[in-house]
Amino acid sequence: KKMVYYFGGGKAEGSADMKMLLGGKGANLAEMTNLGLPVPPGITITTEVCKDYYKLGKQFPEGMWDEVLEGLRKIEKEMGKKFGDKENPLLVSVRSGAPVSMPGMMDTILNLGLNDETVEGLAKSTNNERFAWDSYRRFIQMFGNVVMGIPHEKFEEVLEEKKREVGAKQDVDLSAEDLKDVVKRYKELVKRETGREFPQDPYEQLKMAIKAVFDSWNNPRAIKYREINKIPEDYGTAVNIVAMVFGNMGETSGTGVAFTRNPSTGENEFYGEYLKNAQGEDVVAGIRTPQPLTKAQKTSQEQTSLEEEFPEVYKELLKIRDILEKHYREMQDIEFTIENGRLWMLQTRTGKRTAKAAVKIAVDMVKEGLISKEEAILRVDPSLIDQLLHPMLDEEDRKRAKAEGRLIAKGLPAAPGAVSGKVVFTADEAVELAEKGEKVILVRHETSPEDIHGMHAAEGILTARGGMTSHAAVVARGMGKTCIVGAESIHVDYDREEFRVGDVVVKKGEVITIDGSTGEVFHGELKTIPAQISGEFEELMKWADEIRTLQVRVNADTPEDAEQGRKFGAEGIGLCRTEHMFFKEERIPVVREMILAKTQEERERALEKLLPMQREDFIAIFEVMNGLPVNIRLLDPPLHEFLPRTEEEFERTAKEMGLPVEELKKRAEELHEVNPMLGLRGSRLGITHPEIYRMQARAILEAACICKRNGVEVLPEIMLPLIADEKELHELKKLIDDVAAQVFLEMGVEVPYQVGTMVEVPRAAVIADKLARDAEYFSFGTNDLTQMTFGLSRDDAGKFIGKYVELGILKGDPFIHIDEEGVGRLIEMAIELGNATRPGIKTGICGEHGGDPRSINFFQKVGVKYVSPSPFRVPIARLAAAQARI
Ligand code: ADP
Ligand code: MG
Ligand code: MG
Repeated sequence: KKMVYYFGGGKAEGSADMKMLLGGKGANLAEMTNLGLPVPPGITITTEVCKDYYKLGKQFPEGMWDEVLEGLRKIEKEMGKKFGDKENPLLVSVRSGAPVSMPGMMDTILNLGLNDETVEGLAKSTNNERFAWDSYRRFIQMFGNVVMGIPHEKFEEVLEEKKREVGAKQDVDLSAEDLKDVVKRYKELVKRETGREFPQDPYEQLKMAIKAVFDSWNNPRAIKYREINKIPEDYGTAVNIVAMVFGNMGETSGTGVAFTRNPSTGENEFYGEYLKNAQGEDVVAGIRTPQPLTKAQKTSQEQTSLEEEFPEVYKELLKIRDILEKHYREMQDIEFTIENGRLWMLQTRTGKRTAKAAVKIAVDMVKEGLISKEEAILRVDPSLIDQLLHPMLDEEDRKRAKAEGRLIAKGLPAAPGAVSGKVVFTADEAVELAEKGEKVILVRHETSPEDIHGMHAAEGILTARGGMTSHAAVVARGMGKTCIVGAESIHVDYDREEFRVGDVVVKKGEVITIDGSTGEVFHGELKTIPAQISGEFEELMKWADEIRTLQVRVNADTPEDAEQGRKFGAEGIGLCRTEHMFFKEERIPVVREMILAKTQEERERALEKLLPMQREDFIAIFEVMNGLPVNIRLLDPPLHEFLPRTEEEFERTAKEMGLPVEELKKRAEELHEVNPMLGLRGSRLGITHPEIYRMQARAILEAACICKRNGVEVLPEIMLPLIADEKELHELKKLIDDVAAQVFLEMGVEVPYQVGTMVEVPRAAVIADKLARDAEYFSFGTNDLTQMTFGLSRDDAGKFIGKYVELGILKGDPFIHIDEEGVGRLIEMAIELGNATRPGIKTGICGEHGGDPRSINFFQKVGVKYVSPSPFRVPIARLAAAQARI
């Protein structure tokens, strides 16, 4: 099998659809070559080779090296230079490239092929000594770090020392002679650190570099990144070996990165950064602050845009931007280098973007005729639109904070949202505090792939250096984290665990607020407000609604939640939990009276007091949901949850009820259960104390009648929790129907209502055909159903479920993504059985899974009619439901 693919001279053996084999970078380099774009020639060693390398116990498979050499010859021919040549040496970069972009992997090695002899040749052939020695010192540094494992800082120390000695401010101020000396010291450093000389044979360098790329597939950073992003371990990485082009040749050279559209706002404008006389990672590493790509992007007079400095190159870039967008029909993130005024393309890939930009770009591209509505819907990751629903700063509070002088710094707005949190300075601390439930903001000079876990744990990220395309910015956008970068006025002091801005000192643990949409950093906590659906987002959601068949309701216990859900497009309430109404402070005493009553009479007296309260609750909710169905679940939790706990509470309650404390405690003792979640709760309460459910049914139906009289359209659904048997259901259904008949008679009004059952005990799913005789609808309580199907307590699972996922016993947490094989099968079965008895029976999901895109896809497949998530997940569910149809 072919192990190495060549690209160059306008033709490539690979193409963009070969990402699995060539990795994303290699496949796109091939594609760009075929598009006729100026790409330096190169070769890609396939991901298959990487897999073989591991199978062989970290050995190159036979024949690979020969194919590499053969490819190298073609590159030499195309470039008119020879690898290892003393006169006019060919240099290459060695770059990793997995099928999906993985910033956690190996750093690229540039300028490979340099040694004590070829560096002289490079100097002569380019007539640029400084450049040659700059390239050599960069090469030793990168190779020494990435391949030989010498800490980056040790090289930096040497470089800084030299700069101090000669009074150079920046790297570019070092002369050829200075750089020669740096090279000498670097080589000594390598010897000291590794006990061996820096390898001089270019072919040996190349072999070592290829090995290092393969090995990097399994470094801890990469493993962690794959874990977080759920990238399969067996993909492997490709290796790209590309002829070097040089952005560090002086003032007519440079290097840059650009997005074909603004990655932060989605605006259809070219957006990027570049640095003159620089190479590779210089732009993203925050060594010098990069300059803007376009005039429009300039924020101050001192900046000089590429558009002005290199007008010809800019024109060509504009053309390429157009070609790439039309070709890929997707926003691209590109890397380019200018060597003596000549443009070279080094990478293109789908650009990471904020949720806001994702939505705008998708909608715009439909309007531009580039993609279909369906494609637009598929392009927006539902879990990211959460960001659009992210809180924003309350404007009044922002003004106030500014007036109080609490706006302490401003950086680049890299990823939106407004968050507050305690300041931490290391990724580990971020994780530690987050695990304790604290909100933290990770503050760094800049971030690197080693910080990924901390960025993941933090609410937001703030860096002092770096541009919009720096590591922190790119990763934060991908994760949907609020982020500000390049807040240059901030001085981060890791040793003292504080940062300073002017004379303001912010210590570890102090709270700051960052606004990732404006780049503003505030001292202390500011008020935030929830976001709205509008503009392009609204448009996309409209398209989603046209496509989806799965309905989306909302779980809401209060009129406020109902209102929020409705604003987000909910088509009804899928679950209204009545117990939450009981927990209100002024009601607790009455509820306790009801629970602790010794006689039925006493209990009914208490219930009478609760009735008007519940009725008011329902009226308020019905009014908000005018015209839409509202599914109300009768009392579900074990009664003792409402009982006093502390001594103080006991005393207060006893006083209120006019009972001796001792007697109250005795009553509470009697109600104690060994295993309350499987005890007297749910419909068992209705069977044991029918007066409770009778009161609730009455409150619901009276409220419905009152609303109807007032011209509100009500569609109440009354749901029985934890049903396990058809006779149990039958009994309670009769109870509700009796109350209804009575209420309608008393009020002289009738409202259509339905009685349904939760399916949350496995037995209910098994006998669903029987339940459907009485139940007019099913609502799957997937939280309890998962808990009971697995026999897995959801309150305790956290302690051990991680191990199960780690060992691969479970694919994921079944409380997050529905377990399709087990719990899912029960749902599927119950739907089939239910339909057999009652064709077209209404079925819904009211557990957490109703807001999880992956689970939604499954529910669509098995014919569920609606899902019902919490208010903020309603838009996510609408989009996911549309995607499930496409
Ligand atoms: P990453 O995956 O981190 O983007 P890359 O392999 O793209 O790493 O390379 C890192 C940097 O080096 C980029 O800025 C890239 O443009 C630059 N680079 C890579 N290969 C070459 C080359 N052959 N000539 C000049 N610059 C290169
Ligand atoms: Mg790159
Ligand atoms: Mg339940």
